[in-house]
Amino acid sequence: MIRGIQKASFIDWPDKVCTVIFLERCNFRCPFCQNPELIRNPEELQEIPIDELLAFLEDRKGWIDGVCITGGEPTIHSKLPELVEKIKQLGFGVKLDTNGSNPEMLERLIPKLDYIAMDIKGPLERYQEITRSQIDPALIRKSVELIRNSGKPYEFRTTVLPKLHSKEDLLKIAEWLRGSERYVLQQFRPEKTLDPAFQQEKSFTSEELMAFKKMLEPYFKFVEVRE
Ligand code: SF4
Repeated sequence: MIRGIQKASFIDWPDKVCTVIFLERCNFRCPFCQNPELIRNPEELQEIPIDELLAFLEDRKGWIDGVCITGGEPTIHSKLPELVEKIKQLGFGVKLDTNGSNPEMLERLIPKLDYIAMDIKGPLERYQEITRSQIDPALIRKSVELIRNSGKPYEFRTTVLPKLHSKEDLLKIAEWLRGSERYVLQQFRPEKTLDPAFQQEKSFTSEELMAFKKMLEPYFKFVEVRE
């Protein structure tokens, strides 16, 4: 299940130092995905046993604030609640990155989570097209509502690129998420992508991202550009 570990990150959890763990596989096929090895052929990566991770974390006590669980898509794993529980028992906070496709699992985990980051791939009506999956948009809508009402710190974030997102798409997302705490526009990086054709795709310029930020600020408490 665990196919990668980044010992310390200063950027994955706002104002915290965390260890990042990467869980294999995903139920989406976003063409711009920047972890294709976790999606396409995770068995080629060395698996890290949970006990090994816990021993590593034990040694990090006092050095990190928590653990960011990312992927891939963590919520497709039935053992995720057990993993979260074991990390919490060591006294660490847990941040979960999710694509929002499993609200049932999310609801179960929320009481244990200290920060939730959910990807917003585009307006709901474009989800199947952008994620190249058969996702039911109602599941995504449900996850958004669970997170907004969770009482936990959270962010919604969109990796944006000209090929997939127009100004109108971003305004539709903003209308849908209006009043949410934190929205992040993430820069697309073409170096490594799940669909190799996307390595030829352009990114938005920094100026364009800043213009989007300004446009979206009236809808959210906080809007950030992550480049
Ligand atoms: S970007 Fe996220 S949701 Fe999309 S395929 Fe990659 S891991 Fe899955």
